[in-house]
Amino acid sequence: MVRSSQTLTITCKQAPTSKRVARGAGGRFLGRVSAPKLLIFDCDSTLSSIEGIDELGRARGVEVFKRVEEMTNDAMNGKLPVQAVFGRRLEIIQPEQKDIAAIGRLYIETVEPTAAEALATARAAGWTPMILSGGFRPVIHPLADFLGIERVEAVDLFFDADGRYMGFDETYPTTRSGGKPEMINRLRAELKPAKVVMVGDGVSDLETKPVVDLFVGFGRYVARERVKREAAVFITSMAELAKVLT
Ligand SMILES: [Mg+2]
Repeated sequence: MVRSSQTLTITCKQAPTSKRVARGAGGRFLGRVSAPKLLIFDCDSTLSSIEGIDELGRARGVEVFKRVEEMTNDAMNGKLPVQAVFGRRLEIIQPEQKDIAAIGRLYIETVEPTAAEALATARAAGWTPMILSGGFRPVIHPLADFLGIERVEAVDLFFDADGRYMGFDETYPTTRSGGKPEMINRLRAELKPAKVVMVGDGVSDLETKPVVDLFVGFGRYVARERVKREAAVFITSMAELAKVLT
C-alpha cells in the first residue's frame, strides 16, 4: 500500500517522450503521468504594464522614481548587467512593507488585458503557466493568484518587525544577469518538462533563448530593439500566444 507520505519516484526510460511512468515505493507501477509543458512568463512589462521596482520608487517621490526607472531601463535594455542595479535601486528606495500590498494591487489593475483568456486557452492545451521574475515575490503574488498561476519564482524581500527594509535574497539567480537561464535549467532538472516556452520583454528574458524550446519576445508595453531582433517570435498581445504555442 502506498501511503501519501511516501515520495513518488518518476522515471523516464523511453526518451524522448512526453509520457513517463510513475512508481511508488518498491517500484510499484502507479500509472502514466505527462511531463509538463511549461509556459514561463516574465512579470513586469509582460503580464502587467508596470515595473514593480519603479513603483516602489514612485512611492518614495518623483526624484527617486526617476533614478530607479532609468536604472531599470538600462538593465532591461542590456546596457547594464542586472546585478549592477539590483541592490542599488533597493538601497535608494528603502521600501517599506506597507508598500507591498498597494503595489500588489497595482499589478492586478494593470494586468495585460488579454492575459487571463490567453492563460485559459493555454491551460486547455495542456500548458502549465509559471512566473519567473527579477521582481519581488511578495509584490507579484497577488497578480499570480489573480491569474491562477501557482508557482512564482522571484526575489524575496526582508523586513524587520516594524516593516522596515532589511535586504533582499542576494543568492537568488534573477538578481543577476544570466539568472533566468540558470533558473530554467533548475526547473528542467526538477520538473523534466516536455517543452519550455519563455515569454518576456527584457534582455534578461532573451538570455533564456538557448535553454528554452521557444523564446517569445513581448512588446506591448516596451518594444526593446534587441529583444525584437533576436526573439524567435515577437508578439504585442497575449491574445497572439495561442498561435505560437504548439
Ligand atoms: Mg519584464
